Amino acid sequence: MSSEMRQNKLTGQWVIYASERGDRPTQFGDGENGDGNVLPPVDPNCPFCPGNEDQLPEIILELPAHGVEKWQTRVVPNKYPMLTPAHDRERERRGMYVWMRGFGHHEVIIEHPRHDLDLADMPVDALETVIETYHRRYTQLIQQGSVPIVILFRNHGDQAGTSIKHPHSQLVAPGIVPQHIRRREDIAQQYYDTWGRGLMADILRHELEMQKRLVTENDTFVAFVPYAAEVPFEMWIVPRRQQAGFGEIAKSERAGLAKVLDDCLLRLRNALNNPDYNYVIHTSARYKAGEPHLHWYVQVRPRLVTPAGFEIGSGMLVNPSLPEDDAATLRGIATD
Ligand SMILES: [Zn+2]
Repeated sequence: MSSEMRQNKLTGQWVIYASERGDRPTQFGDGENGDGNVLPPVDPNCPFCPGNEDQLPEIILELPAHGVEKWQTRVVPNKYPMLTPAHDRERERRGMYVWMRGFGHHEVIIEHPRHDLDLADMPVDALETVIETYHRRYTQLIQQGSVPIVILFRNHGDQAGTSIKHPHSQLVAPGIVPQHIRRREDIAQQYYDTWGRGLMADILRHELEMQKRLVTENDTFVAFVPYAAEVPFEMWIVPRRQQAGFGEIAKSERAGLAKVLDDCLLRLRNALNNPDYNYVIHTSARYKAGEPHLHWYVQVRPRLVTPAGFEIGSGMLVNPSLPEDDAATLRGIATD
């Protein structure tokens, strides 16, 4: 396993080079997202299915299902990692450039023993166990102190980058703080220094007042289509209580997040016939925990449009639909 990282001098952004990821197996190839071809509850060739534990490098963490002894979720190292903890973290000068080994963690969260049970179809208490697993592993890695940030995400469908159909999420914890996370932190800090209030807290208050971009809410979380959504049907799921990092989420809030996330995924599926999507938990760097200006959130980003030349050239995105219209569609859809 030898991945490496190089820094783009023009932007400051780091790029990961992980050539072995090209060798990873794929359970796709039919160009289908699982619609039309029904998955079996157990696939004898799937490394994440029960009975195939010998194909797993290691089981880092296992959580039982609600009220049952049997495991529901498992955290395992990614077999084709983009980053590994065995590498050292030293930066090196390479000519005029900066280089480092691919240090970090890359893990898979197997969400359920059932091969065919998509996250949106799980009972809410099973989804709560998934969130609980995110939180448990996030906290462990942050407490170890070797990585500055832990990024949790889920890819649904082959357009979203999934290579294995068994329901799973992923965790990547790099040895550096990515540029765009730093930039978001800076903007939030400037706002706080000017107004004495959190930027996301103000956005949340405004959206609750306006109503027109709201999708769903409960007593701990609010989901809405953001004012400047980058892609059609993008949603942000924001905790009502200000908290800088995902590690600060309380037990009752984890249950609340499971409910709102489930609701959002069902709305998305019913409105758009099971689209590919990514969701990611945008949190802050480890040493920003407790900061009053930061506020973590979940971004759900459907894969309905493909960025092209203009987007690459300008960094701007072109969204063919208006956030207010997308929110109205998502609100109006049944979730059963
Ligand atoms: Zn499987």
